This record gives sequence, structure tokens and C-alpha cells, in this order.
Amino acid sequence: MKKLFLFLFAFSMKIVSGQHNLTAAPWHAKVESALALIKEYEPEIYETIKTSYIQVGGISGENEMHAWAFALKESRYNSTIPWIMLDSKALTDFTVKNIAGLLLHEALHLAYWDKGVDGKIYFTKSDSDIKVEHTYIYNYQLNFLKKIRASKNDQQFCLDIMHYLRLTVYNN
Ligand SMILES: [Zn+2]
Repeated sequence: MKKLFLFLFAFSMKIVSGQHNLTAAPWHAKVESALALIKEYEPEIYETIKTSYIQVGGISGENEMHAWAFALKESRYNSTIPWIMLDSKALTDFTVKNIAGLLLHEALHLAYWDKGVDGKIYFTKSDSDIKVEHTYIYNYQLNFLKKIRASKNDQQFCLDIMHYLRLTVYNN
């Protein structure tokens, strides 16, 4: 984690087009397209994303969750700053719709924490807490991918992670 925090602090903050998409070219436009999809199909969750700082970094393969993104709430200057970090390889290789799914996923974590489930940061939670949270979030992500007509490959990407994490897939 230490490396990631250093990476975050290396960037100055700037505000772009009403939200905080701090990703540079060539990823910036792709993130904007993904954000537009969320704004259209999940306006309530977009409200959470609007308040978050979106950044790119190298995180794939460094965690046991097979995650390509993560969210965190950073306490700094007497306030809490929500971050969404996306993996650079995912941003390069994934479709816009799959990236929208990743952003939605991380925004749901931020929203879930805001609801005061236990107020703890993700990685300090127990495994069973994370499983409950992820069952809800991955099913939401999968439904979103269906709703935006993401490809079978993109939907399978989500399902593969759910199976790996042994999460229940809801039928709907
Ligand atoms: Zn997650």
C-alpha cells in the first residue's frame, strides 16, 4: 500500500469538467466516456463519483482480490478525501463499458461506507464483512454491465471474479 500512497501524493489536484478525473492522456478520454455511461444509467451513483478523485496507477497483481481498481477515503487536512484508483493496464486494455463497471464498483464501496456500515476502511474489515459488501457490489456491477449492453466478455470478466471470490450470483 505504501507505494500507492506515495503515488497518490505525487499528483497535484485539479478539477476537470465538474468531477475530479485526474487521469492523464491517453486514459483521460476513456475515463470520461465511462463516466458519461454511469451518469446516464446510474445518476445516483454518479453523484458519489463526482465527489471522488479518480487516478491511475499500477495495482494489478498486487492484491489477492484480482482487483483492477480500489477506493479509499483518505483523512487529510481535517477532511476526508474519497479516491478511486484505476489500474493503468486495465485502462489501456479494457473496454469503456468494463471501465465504467470498475468505476461503478468503487463508487459503490464509497457509498456503502458513507452509509455507515461500520465506518472502517476496507482493508481493516473482516473477511465476512468484505464478502457481504462484495456480494452486493459485484451483483450490482454485473447488472449494470447487462443494462449498458456490455459484451459477453465484459460480463464474463465480472462473473469470473465472482466465482473466484465464491460470491453468490443473483438471478434476475
Ligand atoms: Zn471491491
